[in-house]
Amino acid sequence: MSNTLDLAIALLKKQSLTPNDAGCMDLMAEYLQQRGFNIEWMNFGDTRNLWARKGTEAPLFCFAGHTDVVPTGPLEEWSTPPFEPTIKEGLLYSRGAADMKGSLAAMLTACDTFINGHCDHKGSISFLITSDEEGPALDGTVKVIDTLKQRNEKIDFCIVGEPSSHKTFGDMVRVGRRGSINGYLTLFGKQGHVAYPELVENPIHALSPILSKLTTERWDEGNEYFPPTSFQISNLNSGTGVENVVPGQLKLVFNLRFSSELTPEEIKRRVTYIVDQNSDNYELTWQVSGLPFITEKGILTTAVEQALFDTTGSKPILSTGGGTSDGRFIAPTGAQLIELGPINESIHKVNECVSVDDLDLLSLTYSKILENILL
Ligand SMILES: [Zn+2]
Repeated sequence: MSNTLDLAIALLKKQSLTPNDAGCMDLMAEYLQQRGFNIEWMNFGDTRNLWARKGTEAPLFCFAGHTDVVPTGPLEEWSTPPFEPTIKEGLLYSRGAADMKGSLAAMLTACDTFINGHCDHKGSISFLITSDEEGPALDGTVKVIDTLKQRNEKIDFCIVGEPSSHKTFGDMVRVGRRGSINGYLTLFGKQGHVAYPELVENPIHALSPILSKLTTERWDEGNEYFPPTSFQISNLNSGTGVENVVPGQLKLVFNLRFSSELTPEEIKRRVTYIVDQNSDNYELTWQVSGLPFITEKGILTTAVEQALFDTTGSKPILSTGGGTSDGRFIAPTGAQLIELGPINESIHKVNECVSVDDLDLLSLTYSKILENILL
């Protein structure tokens, strides 16, 4: 059995539901301490965070990840118990196998391989591990990053172990993600009888030109890394439920997934301009749920592409799709950041699994990335 598989199984046996780490980090810390890493615990609330670092020089390369897993879902739908890792036909089944204890194991063994082969490497290696990624994510990576900022400790390159692969191992990595902003528009009118148009102001009619402009607006053209910004309405509510009353107000909720060509301020300004031209009695509020980030082509993308070419024979698609990850807290510090992990098809589902061979490939890829950056 490979060391990576061994470590993955040891981590998977621990029932680490968010924010409970269940001892996963102790296992990782012990492994890293034996290889010369300095161990630091950064605990906030009931969340455990591990910051382990070997070396003091720049550049600082960081492996980031989480030990917590999502709930199992209905146990009777699992073909094997979710916390009793089981191998069948080359696949390792367990909650967290793909998201992301397999990656954590691969990071550990990749470090071991790299350090043993190159004890005179340049720079430093670190691990930023949290147990609060699948939950509210308030006391995890974001707080560790705050702490590092306060003492001027800067991550230069970061690999997040999120399962990024699509059909085959290494076919896709994430180099960023789009921003997301919600708008909440209320149009006020004057309620009244439908038979007396001169006595009413119909907010549904007032919406018509606004809707037409918002839905046909070309927000941007996107760029090399992002598709064009998209606008979608998620909720539209008005009317009293009867046929003969003009309603007094209308509520619209919309979302934009935006590229790095736009800022929330620019989006707010342009939407407000469109509404202003067509209504003087409205309320518009906003919620920004995430800013876009991107790792542009450079040292890290080249290192990752080259490593994957060496281990899989082809280069990955550099994608900005997918949901959120803790990368959103690390990338804004200026770190070049890429998410690279196993196939994500089974994550958060019953019978979550990872290919045993892919675990070894992942470890090998991680160690080659270290070579490409730190030699
Ligand atoms: Zn994850």
